[in-house]
Amino acid sequence: MSRVLVVEDEAHLAQGLRFNLEAEGYSAEIAEDGETATERLLAKNENFDAIVLDIMLPGKNGFSVVEELRAARNYVPVLMLTARGRPEDVLKGFAAGADDYLTKPFDLSILLARLQGLLRRSEWMRTAHSTQNSLEASSAPADPGKIGDYGTFSFGGKTIDFGTLELRTNGDVIHLTLMESELLRNLIRNDGRVVSRKQILEEVWGLHEDTDTRAIDNFIVRLRRYIEDDPAQPRHLLTVRGVGYRFLANPERK
Ligand code: CA
Repeated sequence: MSRVLVVEDEAHLAQGLRFNLEAEGYSAEIAEDGETATERLLAKNENFDAIVLDIMLPGKNGFSVVEELRAARNYVPVLMLTARGRPEDVLKGFAAGADDYLTKPFDLSILLARLQGLLRRSEWMRTAHSTQNSLEASSAPADPGKIGDYGTFSFGGKTIDFGTLELRTNGDVIHLTLMESELLRNLIRNDGRVVSRKQILEEVWGLHEDTDTRAIDNFIVRLRRYIEDDPAQPRHLLTVRGVGYRFLANPERK
């Protein structure tokens, strides 16, 4: 049973969410403010499978909560709740390390679908990881330029492990959030092809509504910092003006 923490100060909304999550077979608990949430997740090291996190909270807000989690290397999937008409919140939330967002007021069915999406992805990662561990001894390293059977991909001296969400580069290990990793995986799958921002929002986040596509640009800037030797002169992750992005595993081969 997946365990979800609902961080929301509006009691009726929090209790309604808990009730509905429990009706759907989740175990759900409520934290009424950001301090309680970080206390439980970090100080007490409680395990949750996902967090539904409101941004507007008394005291410590949702941005600070997710920032603190990521800074403490806690990568629990975070679905953020933003107020309508504040697209800048989406950008800020993604920048802080949230994985997905919903605008209030939301349809319960949509919240459940998004949550399910996050849980499914992280479950997939966990399975891929344990399979990988048990097969590690017999598995050959993935061919460069191809996502290997065990979810690794190598290019330009870097290796991404989609099971552990780790990017290994020159002895450094960078931990990716769930959605950073999903975005990279999507771009890599389209190696050499242009992918539009709209397509990325649909395929990676499952968002069909009109979302500010700058949210994507924000992620791309971060990915470039991870994978490019000179993020200002990207060789692997190129901007295609007015359209979107193109990933090149082998820039020389174009
Ligand atoms: Ca609130």
